[in-house]
Amino acid sequence: MTNPILSAWTNAFEIAPFDTISDTDFAPALDAAMQAHNAEIGAIASNPEAPTFANTVEALEAAGEMMDKVLSVFFTVAGADSNPLREELQREFSPKLAAHFSGISSNKALFQRVADLWTRKDELGLTDEQARVLMLSHRGFVRAGAALEGNEDTRMQEIKARLASLGTSFTQNLLADERDWFMELSEDDLQGLPGFVVNSARAAGEEKGAKGPVVTLSRSLIVPFLQFSPRRDLRQKAYHAWTARGANGGETDNREIAAEILQLRQERAKLLGYESFADFKLETEMARTPDRVRDLLMQVWEPAKTRANADAEILTQMMQNDGVNGPLEAWDWRYYAEKRRKAEHDLDEAALKPYLQLDRMIEASFACANRLFGLEFKQLDIPLYHPDCRAWEVTRNGQHIAVFIGDYFARGSKRSGAWCSAMRGQAKFPKVQAPVVINVCNFAKGDPALLSYDDARTLFHEFGHALHQMLSNVTYESISGTSVARDFVELPSQLYEHWLEVPEVLAEFATHAETGAPMPQEMLKKVLKAANFDQGFQTVEYVASALVDLAFHEGAVPDDPMARQAEVLADLGMPAAIRMRHATPHFAHVFAGDGYSAGYYSYMWSEVMDADAFAAFEEAGGAFDSERAKALEENILSTGGSSEAEDLYLAFRGRLPGVEALLKGRGLIAA
Ligand SMILES: [Zn+2]
Repeated sequence: MTNPILSAWTNAFEIAPFDTISDTDFAPALDAAMQAHNAEIGAIASNPEAPTFANTVEALEAAGEMMDKVLSVFFTVAGADSNPLREELQREFSPKLAAHFSGISSNKALFQRVADLWTRKDELGLTDEQARVLMLSHRGFVRAGAALEGNEDTRMQEIKARLASLGTSFTQNLLADERDWFMELSEDDLQGLPGFVVNSARAAGEEKGAKGPVVTLSRSLIVPFLQFSPRRDLRQKAYHAWTARGANGGETDNREIAAEILQLRQERAKLLGYESFADFKLETEMARTPDRVRDLLMQVWEPAKTRANADAEILTQMMQNDGVNGPLEAWDWRYYAEKRRKAEHDLDEAALKPYLQLDRMIEASFACANRLFGLEFKQLDIPLYHPDCRAWEVTRNGQHIAVFIGDYFARGSKRSGAWCSAMRGQAKFPKVQAPVVINVCNFAKGDPALLSYDDARTLFHEFGHALHQMLSNVTYESISGTSVARDFVELPSQLYEHWLEVPEVLAEFATHAETGAPMPQEMLKKVLKAANFDQGFQTVEYVASALVDLAFHEGAVPDDPMARQAEVLADLGMPAAIRMRHATPHFAHVFAGDGYSAGYYSYMWSEVMDADAFAAFEEAGGAFDSERAKALEENILSTGGSSEAEDLYLAFRGRLPGVEALLKGRGLIAA
């Protein structure tokens, strides 16, 4: 029997033949793909001919075709439709794959060839895109430590291994603390909690084997509990437990782990020749330097703090009216903010839902892409990995552009959250390939399926990432689509969310599931206003975390990260009743792995750009201004990582973004 994952995919658009693939095909396909990839890499590294761009960099681009196919199928089903066997395969192959790719990035012979080309780059007659791919390839090897020799090389390997294991311990300690703590609630303690919170508290109680309902430290339960419970004593107790995660002393305490991680990161950065880990980390980002990150965060910090302090006064007054004296505490904020929200912009979620039908919202996201970029969508009938998946062929002026797959419904076999990935990235080398892009979401099923406003935003967000993949128009796959800096990659997605809020879009597509009537103007206004609520608090807790993350990774490494954290917050004048969104002992973004270390600011960096980029449309002819749409596609959506993010943005906007549009969008300054 031939393995259908490894055979040629001959169906329409060369989509993986999901109907013929079985789980037992994965392990042999993964093994074969690694072997084939190693053979390809070995041949490039040991090529007796002198290095050329074609026999080295382009050869690397062309290598791994089988690997791409196998991984695209495997990771798609492992994330969106797992089962015990697929989970087992993931456990088995994750370390193998990590070792495989790390073996390539530290292959000295390969690096020598790339380094040789790099020193001769100006004589090679490269196009701009080729020069960029060579630069990225060389930089990737250097940053992975391929240029280190002897003791330094050995030490780098040790540091990397130690950091990986510390990251795992950090995560496991956090999970243990979250798993072990719960607070039992009597029937009386449920007073004031809405039905959905009572239901989750009861379900959590059953899961924990408790006698009745409980509060756990899961964000989806503790946050609504803090929002709705009138019992100040219980809120305080739960809040203390929540913010003590990773700092409870004993075996699961993360504070020393955090300190060691910071030391090792600094050592790693120094070995590679950087002043600090922040300098190392930010080199590949649009922000580039710690100073630019701090500058942006501080511009947002001051107005956010002013707003939060003003809000604190209002909430304190509300608390005093309740007969509670003394200062507003961190466990009071969400409770009084929720009361205020209800008084000021009561939005009836139940009345809103029938206006947000999944199918109509999909149509809306397509219709906007049609008006902006001329894309057309035609439903396809092809076998996919789950009956809930739908597919469309995307064309423009009759030309095939991409296949778009939507897998929208929640199910037990899918991990939580929402994401976009390319099952095949766009490229023109070694042959022309059109992208196959998938959006995976976790919306509740129904007939018809109805969304919350947040869900609808998620749908537009992920479709924005999909457009970045589908409209990509570069030569080399390694820089196509969303292969851009981390602080730039959320620009297309967050930007696309703005089109959901365009009144004419909601007027056309937010129609009542039964009556077909458009959403009433009053409701529309409330929806848009509610999105800005309590932004002083939210911005302050986020920016404080981002500034502490930055402070940890530049300058002298703190012996005691907790003391450094306290110092940074004191310097900032942190409002008394607000804490960091993620304090150090449970700041998984920063310590569970390298992903967002010295990078937690990225979300806001992207938000500054998306607000500013949408303002460009508004300043021109409006949300569907065709000149702006053309500029967006030409300079950002089609260009992938072919230029520095800053240059791409400048080409689109003519200047760099300012924070004003973000501050207005968050309601922190007057619109
Ligand atoms: Zn995103």
